Amino acid sequence: MESIDALPPQARFALRVVAAGLAHDDAARLLAAAPDAYATLLRTAAHRAGVALPSPGSDAALRDAALAPLVAAARGPSARRPATRCPQADVLRAFAAEALAGPLLLATAEHVADCPACLDALVRLRREGPPPAEETARPVPGRRRGASVACVALALAALGAVAWLLLRAR
Ligand SMILES: [Zn+2]
Repeated sequence: MESIDALPPQARFALRVVAAGLAHDDAARLLAAAPDAYATLLRTAAHRAGVALPSPGSDAALRDAALAPLVAAARGPSARRPATRCPQADVLRAFAAEALAGPLLLATAEHVADCPACLDALVRLRREGPPPAEETARPVPGRRRGASVACVALALAALGAVAWLLLRAR
């Protein structure tokens, strides 16, 4: 079987994050890969590793069972040294929140595939949910309530105006 390290970066990434405990859905979303593209990526990786996958469209559990040896191999240490330096914490957070795109997304995925420390950090961030920066960016509940009170007042005023126009039209 071909080593995990010899697979293309996105396949290495997918297998390493699944081996670290995330779901295939998470791996696909992190890679911003459509279901078809993700399935092709797994199929190519399996083919190169000499593993036969069930036909496309068959049960995901069957696919996962066929992939089990690859995922098990991905739990082992990486012989590759990351080609890039560890991303800044905010880049890793953005990656976990599916907020990266393009070359930065691909470069970060490749780094994480080959860097156990960043893989751990990513899995932790992903499990913790949205990063704190996003929490604080959300509207404060009090303000939100204020806004909805204003909306209700506006709606009542509009209703009043309509009622007045209807009465006047009689
Ligand atoms: Zn790293």
